Amino acid sequence: VSLGFRDVAPEEKTKAVGDIFRRVASRYDLMNDLMSGGLHRLWKDEFVSLLKPQPHETVLDLAGGTGDIAFRIAKRGAKVTVADINPGMLEVGRERAEKKGLALDFMEANAEAMPFADASFDAVTIAFGIRNVTDIPKALRDIRRVLKWGGRFYCLEFSASEWPGFAKIYDQYTLKLVPKVGAVVADDEEAYRYLAESIKRFPPMPAFAQMIGEAGFRQVKARPILGGAVAIHSGWKL
Ligand code: SAM
Repeated sequence: VSLGFRDVAPEEKTKAVGDIFRRVASRYDLMNDLMSGGLHRLWKDEFVSLLKPQPHETVLDLAGGTGDIAFRIAKRGAKVTVADINPGMLEVGRERAEKKGLALDFMEANAEAMPFADASFDAVTIAFGIRNVTDIPKALRDIRRVLKWGGRFYCLEFSASEWPGFAKIYDQYTLKLVPKVGAVVADDEEAYRYLAESIKRFPPMPAFAQMIGEAGFRQVKARPILGGAVAIHSGWKL
């Protein structure tokens, strides 16, 4: 598969992304620690603190992969469903949940057309997942559909840092070093080149916030981390 994606037809992107996460699933957690120097753990902690999940709530963690966000939410007592398009990632997640003694539902699902009834969840989260989705506006509309009225959407994703010096170094780091680390640790330079390039192509904060608003969400906010290298977007179904 050509993973440059610039020339890949939309219908092929979903399949190619699936292929990538199947390939990286077993090394995914280790690579996250290596590539972010462990920082992804802090970002995820902050993300779940902002979400403030309550024990009586039902939460969908979309593109939940190996469960990092879902476990943090489940520890606060909420009932969590992990949905992901990739059975390989879900399998790693299931094993980790078992080891932690956490009871979660795992479900194979495409963010663009989810197998959940309208108004099913108090909150929907997606962390480092939305940029991999082929039709992002369609997924945002489907997220809003499965939320209850008064429900909230929280998205953690790489974005573009507005700190000029930092942005330059960070670009070099993601585009040059990440594929190399991927080659050594996961034996898959191409998959990590795709992941790095997909960060570069994702819309900056104002543009993504606008997309969330266009999907019908209200009170849309963007909260930058590291000047926006990572961002937490939120919106409400009101
Ligand atoms: N949320 C986890 C985390 O923060 O560690 C996993 C993030 S991982 C970078 C991205 C995940 O998005 C992968 O598990 C992948 O299978 C999933 N994904 C990609 N496209 C998807 C889609 N259209 N619908 C649902 N999940 C998708």
